[in-house]
Amino acid sequence: MMRLDGQVVLVTGASRGIGQATASCLAKAGAQVVIHGRSEENLVETSEQILAQGGLEPFRVIYDVRDDEATKQAFLQIKKTFGRLDGLVNNAGIMTEGLLMMTKTTDVQQMMDVNVMGVLQHMQLASRLMMKERVGSIVNFSSIIGIHGSEGSVAYSASKAAIIGATLSAAKEWASAGIRVNAVAPGFIETDLTAHYEGEKKKQLLEAIKMNRFGRVDEVADVVLFLLSGRSSYVTGQVIGVDGGMVI
Ligand code: NAP
Repeated sequence: MMRLDGQVVLVTGASRGIGQATASCLAKAGAQVVIHGRSEENLVETSEQILAQGGLEPFRVIYDVRDDEATKQAFLQIKKTFGRLDGLVNNAGIMTEGLLMMTKTTDVQQMMDVNVMGVLQHMQLASRLMMKERVGSIVNFSSIIGIHGSEGSVAYSASKAAIIGATLSAAKEWASAGIRVNAVAPGFIETDLTAHYEGEKKKQLLEAIKMNRFGRVDEVADVVLFLLSGRSSYVTGQVIGVDGGMVI
């Protein structure tokens, strides 16, 4: 059994999709989760889910991950309330697709700000809290597209490839301080992020998945739980695919 009793874990983007499922899964394993979203309202459902399954009452932090100052304030709140942070799940992310020639610079910038800058800042702030206890686990969200690329995803894949570099380097920097850093690289998971795929395009994507089905949010959450738990105590600097054998 993978348990996280006594651990404080921040999950960004916990309002829906993979982040919501991950927060629930970690709370079910006994963690004190800190759930992050852009509005209180968006986090009500996640809180209710966690309480309904008997988890500890989640602590909420509200900010846009592009807002440096608000992010710092949230970490101060965590420090004041719990005095520690054992786990960070850098899940919040966005995807805007389109051929590079047609892509607006503002869309590229936004993806870099949310998917890369936001993650780096969270890693930095979390590591400062984790260093004190000399223990911690960080899980970053990359994507199969960050490893293999995909037409129409040049900017998104650049942002998700950056996460792999950051994960590998931070794992090296912090291994001796007891902080493990790993990434997950989901394939096609059914959430709002992938809801715009339909018809022929969706059929083609399904055909590329050897397990012949799309992934579920809880299947990603279970891998995150493993990476946060003591069951992965000797695993760091890894990028774990969760893609049902997808080929792109
Ligand atoms: P989703 O359903 O679209 O949820 C995205 C989450 O990120 C939401 O909680 C959203 O909060 C939050 N978020 C977005 N922009 C934000 C910002 N500027 N500040 C704060 N929070 C922000 O996405 P998902 O499918 O669960 O994806 C989660 C992660 O997995 C992402 O990093 C994504 O790139 C990665 N991923 C997903 C798939 C897939 O197939 N779904 C595949 C590979 C990788 P709001 O509710 O406030 O908008």
